[in-house]
Amino acid sequence: MKVAVVGGGVIGLSCAWYLQRGGAQVVLLERDTVGMAASRGNAGWITPALSNPIAAPGVTRQALRWMLSSDSPFLIRPRPDPALVAWLWKFWRSSGRTQYLAGMRAQLALNSRTLELYDGLARDGVEFEMHRDGMLLLFVTERALEEEAAVLDELIREGYPGEVKRLGRAEAQTLEPAVGDGVVGALLAPQERHVRPETLTAGLASALRDSGGEVREGVEVTRLEGGRAGWQIEAGGEEVAADRVVVAGGAWTGRILKPLGIRIGQEAAKGYSITARGSGTRPTRPLYLGEAKVGCSPYDGGVRLAGTLELAGIDLSIDRRRLAAVARAPEAYMKDWRPADPELEWAGLRPIPADTLPLIGAVPGREGLFVATGHAMLGVTLAPATGAALAPLVLENRLLPELAPFRLDR
Ligand SMILES: Cc1cc2nc3c(=O)[nH]c(=O)nc-3n(C[C@H](O)[C@H](O)[C@H](O)COP(=O)(O)OP(=O)(O)OC[C@H]3O[C@@H](n4cnc5c(N)ncnc54)[C@H](O)[C@@H]3O)c2cc1C
Repeated sequence: MKVAVVGGGVIGLSCAWYLQRGGAQVVLLERDTVGMAASRGNAGWITPALSNPIAAPGVTRQALRWMLSSDSPFLIRPRPDPALVAWLWKFWRSSGRTQYLAGMRAQLALNSRTLELYDGLARDGVEFEMHRDGMLLLFVTERALEEEAAVLDELIREGYPGEVKRLGRAEAQTLEPAVGDGVVGALLAPQERHVRPETLTAGLASALRDSGGEVREGVEVTRLEGGRAGWQIEAGGEEVAADRVVVAGGAWTGRILKPLGIRIGQEAAKGYSITARGSGTRPTRPLYLGEAKVGCSPYDGGVRLAGTLELAGIDLSIDRRRLAAVARAPEAYMKDWRPADPELEWAGLRPIPADTLPLIGAVPGREGLFVATGHAMLGVTLAPATGAALAPLVLENRLLPELAPFRLDR
């Protein structure tokens, strides 16, 4: 069976990988270079501990408060678009407790094999930079520490298999010398990991090619047409035929599907990152700078700070004030590491459905057409689980139970 995957981000590449291992002849079609959109400059955390949906009780009130400040962790740039209004309405409706808990359970279940699947990728010859240093969450206010501790307690009650330890400032500083004196307490999730996302996408692309898959770059998919004989795809001016198609176009997925009359109700949530060797006491493990909602990931080369969530449509421009807020975040949490002389300043678009859960599954009424998108803050984390669970559906029409909550017609 020939399967075309549209989009070469971490989700498209993972889907392609597991489809190929499932016996499909795979062609991946990427309009630019693989791994250069949202999957490039993100924090790279493999973090089942963050399986709680963004649409959560109280989040709308908090978001409205943040709206008053242009360098806050969350921003909506209003635009006269009924789709944005509909998205905000549905987001608010999804943030009730029952739906929040159901979403948490669904993401935990999909994440249950995440670490094992990452080990599998490494074992099967995909080369990428992965670290097993856990995640240390730092707080400068008792209130935020207690709130996050309550979220993690709930996550454990709902089945998160890892442990979470509470640390005082001194303990946190002994464990991690980069922690500053302003920190009042910390939470340690030792099982979490992180990858350098650019190496993961490059590793998947080359492993795919080496094992017989076709990865075509610089070919924009401009038309998808399904019929009895399968799918015809116009990509970079050429026609590609396939039995099945998986659309994994990240924040652009809605645009790819629109000509077919398919609407998925997804927004783009911009985030920024800055990568630098910097100066001062370098962190040795990923740090979550709690109130600032900034992730800090140390890599073999530089250290990356990543954060902010901005609903501004498909717009990759860099707002220097927001990037500066991310760059300033260490001042409150870290001893003296600062991101001097950045090697990369970056913006990326997280694909985010209104209920903030991924969209993974068959497109109703379109035989042979599938979607894998909407992973919001968890795209790197959930990429292998998404590909591994979607492959049996595409190849054998077998729906694994963990995929059911993510179907498109939910
Ligand atoms: C600041 C920030 C920090 C983050 N940190 C983390 C983290 O620590 N852990 C985590 O799990 N997640 C994190 N994320 C989220 C993660 O980056 C995303 O969920 C993930 O990268 C989405 O991957 P994707 O493959 O869906 O999209 P993308 O990587 O955007 O890939 C989509 C691809 O489709 C291609 N495309 C679009 N249209 C077409 C077309 N017509 N034809 C062909 N190709 C097309 C694009 O060029 C692109 O390459 C973070 C995101 C941000 C912004």
